[in-house]
Amino acid sequence: ELYNQVQDLRGNIRVYCRVRPFLPGQNGTISTVDAIVDGASIVIVNPARQGKDQRKAFSFNKVFGPSTSQEQVFLDTQPLIRSVLDGYNVCIFAYGQTGSGKTYTMSGPNNPSYKDWGVNFRALHDLFEICDLRKNVMRYEVGVQMIEIYNEQIRNNSQQNGLNVPDAKLLPVISTEDVLELMDMGQRNRAVGATALNDRSSRSHSVLTVHIKGIDLSNGCVLRGCLHLVDLAGSERVDKSEAAGDRLKEAQHINKSLSALGDVIAALAQKSSHIPYRNSKLTQLLQDSLGGQAKTLMFVHISPDCDFYGETISTLKFAERVA
Ligand code: ADP
Ligand code: MG
Repeated sequence: ELYNQVQDLRGNIRVYCRVRPFLPGQNGTISTVDAIVDGASIVIVNPARQGKDQRKAFSFNKVFGPSTSQEQVFLDTQPLIRSVLDGYNVCIFAYGQTGSGKTYTMSGPNNPSYKDWGVNFRALHDLFEICDLRKNVMRYEVGVQMIEIYNEQIRNNSQQNGLNVPDAKLLPVISTEDVLELMDMGQRNRAVGATALNDRSSRSHSVLTVHIKGIDLSNGCVLRGCLHLVDLAGSERVDKSEAAGDRLKEAQHINKSLSALGDVIAALAQKSSHIPYRNSKLTQLLQDSLGGQAKTLMFVHISPDCDFYGETISTLKFAERVA
């Protein structure tokens, strides 16, 4: 109950911006991030410009600088995640250009140690822990599902062959280890038919869904909540003069679905009477968890590199529109 009172004050849509650090070997490179103010605003500087247009400021619910730990990011997300146990539907998105840190936030680096775990493992771990604490009053059933959307086609990666099955079967899980195993399988299935996994993963949306059913042991009442953790396809614009064939088609699908997602969230933020869910597979899939009582968190990721100034500004503009 307490979690929700805190959340409701903030409304149902929130945007957190995260700046990744420079990667090893980039020490001393000049950053486009001029300042982070009060943990909620970010000032971006254009290295190629002088004068009054050189700086732009953007404000969000939170801004995490490059040294923010995985634990801190999770702590600021935890109340939202826990509200799933009280019957809320929650969507958490990772948005940003390829290489900006989406997968790092959601899953962690490759082969993460405990302290590097991303939001998804921490979330599952936390939910299982609370289920256990409440076991004398509530019985919880947890099921997870991994889905990939590639070129506006839905693939279920939690099943052996990754066939086209939109009504994917839920796999029951009883511990974080089960989920790790399942996600491993999902990653392997994601690789099927793809020559370069990294390449492919940056062009598909990956959705990990956790369904929770809670049964109140005193009266048999049932609560259902759902958590969607979405690692979106890279938001970078593809140069039409360079891309052709499959690559161009992929880029167009990504572009279309990311703008459709932006349109839905912006319409919800403005409390518009028409929410355009039908314009992409992703928004159709998540329709029941976007809007109404559901809660949405968008993590927008930016890289500090000057080379990406243009992408950084367009990412922040996208984020500002949905905030
Ligand atoms: P994306 O999923 O957006 O393409 P990644 O999450 O793969 O980007 O991040 C790109 C690289 O930067 C990876 O090597 C990742 O480990 C590293 N990285 C991203 N964010 C951070 C961070 N906050 N701290 C340390 N390393 C990070
Ligand atoms: Mg990634």
